[in-house]
Amino acid sequence: MCFHILAKALSIIVKMIEEKSMQQAIIGFHLDDEQDWVADLACGHAQHVRHNPPWQNRPWVMTAEGRQEKLGMMLNCLKCEENRSISLN
Ligand SMILES: [Zn+2]
Repeated sequence: MCFHILAKALSIIVKMIEEKSMQQAIIGFHLDDEQDWVADLACGHAQHVRHNPPWQNRPWVMTAEGRQEKLGMMLNCLKCEENRSISLN
């Protein structure tokens, strides 16, 4: 039977939906104590959006225009993801 293939497909879809739900829109930006840019997310969490090449390459965060452009962009919220995995365990 191909039930296990179906179950596998279903688990992949569920995972995709769950991952998608961790995406939060950027509603603003602020600087932290170390002058690193932090994105304020729709869920109330905040996440660093550092420009630290070559590891983190976000030249747009350095300019007001670039940040303005990214408002509303979806970002994977690590804190939401963390909360979810804690609640699942
Ligand atoms: Zn969040």
